Amino acid sequence: MSDLDTRTRQAPHAIAAAPVLILLGPPGAGKGTQARMLEERFGLVQLSTGDLLRAAVKAGTEAGRRAEAVMKAGDLVSDDIVIAILRDRMAEPDCVRGVILDGFPRTAVQARALDALLAETGQNVNAAISLEVDDAAMVARISGRYTCAECGEGYHDSFKQPARAGTCDKCGGTAFKRRADDKAETVEARLKVYHAETAPLIAYYDDKGSLDRIDAMGGIEDISAALAALVQQRT
Ligand code: AMP
Repeated sequence: MSDLDTRTRQAPHAIAAAPVLILLGPPGAGKGTQARMLEERFGLVQLSTGDLLRAAVKAGTEAGRRAEAVMKAGDLVSDDIVIAILRDRMAEPDCVRGVILDGFPRTAVQARALDALLAETGQNVNAAISLEVDDAAMVARISGRYTCAECGEGYHDSFKQPARAGTCDKCGGTAFKRRADDKAETVEARLKVYHAETAPLIAYYDDKGSLDRIDAMGGIEDISAALAALVQQRT
């Protein structure tokens, strides 16, 4: 990972060497927060299919129109839409730096599609990292969370308030937003879907020898440190 600049300059051959990391875990496990940390620390590109879908909804694209109601209900958007969005995003030049997938894959079909996509450029998943948490704590974690509308920095009513009330620590922005699907009832639905569709991927990556597990119930900084050590080892 120390070789970031060289790798960026060597495109397109260097694509084959670019790390691909996956963060697995239920909603509220901290995938977004930790992916942002990895982006800052290692220069990896955070690819959140949730963010890409929310952007598509906002832009009113065909995919966004098809996804909107499904997302509001806490269900999974169809594999074909999500795979197409991910494939397009991964073709953008910045991904040569390596990517950290946050919220993808979420089904066995998506996991196999990712393998096929990476095989086209001789890539592999370097590590699928499962953020291990207690479900019971996730509803409280999610229902209190909000982000800076300007830069996306994450905050929480109980666990992480900005140092100066109402002002983002990172960019000084003063507008904040909460996700429409972070209501308690929708969170329950999302957790159910996670266990039915996504949790089996832990075994999928374990069988391939690319699974790592991290205890993600502690403080954000401790989890970040454990994750950073793991990423250094795996890339
Ligand atoms: P997230 O921001 O990852 O929590 O995703 C928010 C919502 O977007 C999910 O509840 C799903 O409705 C949808 N979504 C995000 N990623 C995927 C995916 N890989 N497959 C299907 N639906 C997804």
